Amino acid sequence: MGKPTRLVIFGRQGAGKGTQCLRLVERYGVVHISTGDMLRAERAADTKLGRDAGRIMDAGGLVGDDIMIPVAKNRIAAADVVSAGFVLDGFPRTTDQAEGLFAALGDERLHAVINLDVPLDEVTTRMKARGRGDDTDEAIAQRLALYEKETQPVLDWFEERGLLVPVDGLGTEEEVTDRLISAVDRTLTADGDDA
Ligand code: ADP
Repeated sequence: MGKPTRLVIFGRQGAGKGTQCLRLVERYGVVHISTGDMLRAERAADTKLGRDAGRIMDAGGLVGDDIMIPVAKNRIAAADVVSAGFVLDGFPRTTDQAEGLFAALGDERLHAVINLDVPLDEVTTRMKARGRGDDTDEAIAQRLALYEKETQPVLDWFEERGLLVPVDGLGTEEEVTDRLISAVDRTLTADGDDA
């Protein structure tokens, strides 16, 4: 197996991040780390962490950095993730979490931080088309506005460090996957790492 690839992916709700994460897992052999999935699993297992996090998730808030940073660090340090690499989804969500991620990685480089970009009006249309019970127009607008407010500072943080790679998320799943793979491959070859 080649060297492990380490990626972070950002994208609005409805941008197709879940599907594209699966494609990245297939292509690079990385482990998909979704902090939202991890918290939901803790919840299902009724652990203390799951109960504490569950209350915050229901209230639409962010679980505290004091909880989230150690949770993510532990996962990143696990043997399977160290050897296979990862695509991080849902973390970091604050600049403190981003600092925590860098601290956890030490000398290991993050290869790319992808911003899977689908314009607001398009994700709004997609979410309305899903027609889920909780997807009222106001709820959709509110979730997207919150994403913008929370995520922009973290995107700026990575941009300042030259790591942010914008990828156009419009088009078919295959088109988007092709763009993602070219973008990641470029960052892998950029400094002599094996692609
Ligand atoms: P969503 O796109 O709805 O935010 P996620 O599955 O990524 O879905 O996360 C679900 C919830 O879990 C979030 O709304 C938040 O309460 C919590 N959560 C997940 N990741 C983090 C994180 N990195 N920091 C703080 N809270 C988090």
